[in-house]
Amino acid sequence: TSFRVTARQVDEGGTTGVIVCFEDETHRAQAEQMRRDFVANVSHELKTPLTALIGFIDTLRGPAREDPNARDRFLGIMESEANRMNRLVSDLLSLSRVEAEERVRPTARLDLAALIRATVRSLEPVAAEAGVTVALELSSGTTEIVGDTDQLRQVLVNLIENAIKYSGEGTTTRVALTGPSYEPRVRGQGVRIRVADSGPGIDPVHIPRLTERFYRIDTHRSRERGGTGLGLAIVKHIVNRHRGRLLVDSTPGEGSEFTVVLPTG
Ligand code: ADP
Repeated sequence: TSFRVTARQVDEGGTTGVIVCFEDETHRAQAEQMRRDFVANVSHELKTPLTALIGFIDTLRGPAREDPNARDRFLGIMESEANRMNRLVSDLLSLSRVEAEERVRPTARLDLAALIRATVRSLEPVAAEAGVTVALELSSGTTEIVGDTDQLRQVLVNLIENAIKYSGEGTTTRVALTGPSYEPRVRGQGVRIRVADSGPGIDPVHIPRLTERFYRIDTHRSRERGGTGLGLAIVKHIVNRHRGRLLVDSTPGEGSEFTVVLPTG
């Protein structure tokens, strides 16, 4: 806890006194610390691929100049480092956009079942490349909601891509839409989107922190699979904007289940 204390002398009607003010600055100090941590994280995340790029440019100018095999290999690595920076910058832009819009209610009506079907179809090549089967189960009820199509597509992409990239070869990811029905979590009618994988699962100690920016259980594994550490932070802000809830349930060794509950009323 941190306090700012100020004192002021007052003279009124012949009486002299002192007013002492205690202002609780804990919240402001915490927000300031979070901002500093975020800037430090972003700088570090950008510096890692940049350092690699600069190093390889030097090598290409020097030792690898006359060696076509080495040149091709280094150019390949440079491309993947540049792609990583590109993903990071795109995710940072998405995050700042969704944060800015968090208090603005979406107004468009959209068909959630159609959106899920189209998104799963667009991710088929990613799933096939990773050797993952994606199974789709859509409820027969009406699934029209008020929401932002692009943002909800992003929620689906982030959750399904995570399921694919952390589970891998030979596993199945189930994407299901159920409802509408009464949802205590949103105190009214709602639908549930469930993305369940049969991957490594998540130790319960990590679950409360998963939506923090740059929080990763295994940084090396996340980086290796093209992760930026921002995906679930983006999901969380979008779900908040839709007055929904994000639930995470996992059994280590068996798989993870991410559920988004969205109000339909
Ligand atoms: P990243 O870009 O690292 O995937 P996210 O914010 O999407 O960042 O996820 C944060 C972390 O949560 C990941 O680094 C990973 O450790 C863990 N995680 C997310 N989804 C899954 C999943 N389906 N199975 C196992 N771990 C997961």
